Amino acid sequence: MKKEFMTVPHFLGDGKISTKEQEIPKPEDNQLLIQAKSNLLCGSDRNQFYNGSKIIPGHEGAGIIVDKGKNAKFEIGMRGAIYLYDYCGECRNCKINATNQCLSKRAEPGFTVDGAYSQYYVINDNIFFPVDDDIDLINASLLLDVMGTGGHATKRAQLIHKDIQSLLINGAGPIGLGLLAMSKLTFAKDIPVAINDVIPSRLLLAEKMGGLPIDLSKKNLQEGLDNYGIKNPDVAIDATGKTIARKNALDLLAKRGVLVLVGNGEGLEFEQYPDMGSKERSILGSEYFSYNELEDNHQLLKNNQEYLSQIITHKYPIDEIQKAYDHFFSPDSNAGKIAVYQ
Ligand SMILES: [Zn+2]
Ligand SMILES: [Zn+2]
Repeated sequence: MKKEFMTVPHFLGDGKISTKEQEIPKPEDNQLLIQAKSNLLCGSDRNQFYNGSKIIPGHEGAGIIVDKGKNAKFEIGMRGAIYLYDYCGECRNCKINATNQCLSKRAEPGFTVDGAYSQYYVINDNIFFPVDDDIDLINASLLLDVMGTGGHATKRAQLIHKDIQSLLINGAGPIGLGLLAMSKLTFAKDIPVAINDVIPSRLLLAEKMGGLPIDLSKKNLQEGLDNYGIKNPDVAIDATGKTIARKNALDLLAKRGVLVLVGNGEGLEFEQYPDMGSKERSILGSEYFSYNELEDNHQLLKNNQEYLSQIITHKYPIDEIQKAYDHFFSPDSNAGKIAVYQ
């Protein structure tokens, strides 16, 4: 059979991205060939951007099925988003739908196998999530780290706390904005959600999305919360990974309050008393989200596409991927999420 080739980005390291030619893969049994349409940049691309990558990055992708192997679910022509964890479906965690905690993940497209910057890439059919025609494919990528991770963290808090009346979010970067949006959409539009950062452009966008901005370069957290009449938030969600930010949030949590830690980060400092015991506070980890959470989030995206798409502040075509990354990782970046489309 004749081989066909495509041009794909090559992450060289040192913040440099060139291109290379690569064979277009063929889907095997239960696999889909995806034509890439969009991918959102992410803080966790940092390692690939600065240290290089043998595989093609892109783990917040959406695209179109253009070929399929034997027995693969879904049909050619369907559009959808690609879930990151190629979960086994058989371990005890997968059996209760905790696919983000799969005990024998097969792959993570964009990290361990070619991902969504490849013009064409192959996935197992279990991680494809189809979206309706009225969802733009760039917006479909919001179902992943932004809505998925954000929504999962709020669900984690709700496991513990049954009458959440106020929230605090540390960090108004892309994950923080996702947490803000999903808090607003999950609870009530008018629930007070304070959100802190030190970058004015981020806080401006957070405010536009209904958050109560606190500029920590101008005032401390307590003053910022007092200003909005939130003495002690019920839930604090940390998206900064900073020990000090986590500690400051914990200190101000209400009785029965919950601190949720999203993603990677530094350590955490607390004392059993007075931080935890008498106030019956909880601290929870939160990691990505389960595949089955996509269904509800898809509905939320359908109903709130304009609101949510504000999180994508910039879009670049694939041949300007270098510019997109320079922008995203510049120290004074004004970007929320950046999309690369093709
Ligand atoms: Zn990501
Ligand atoms: Zn599993």
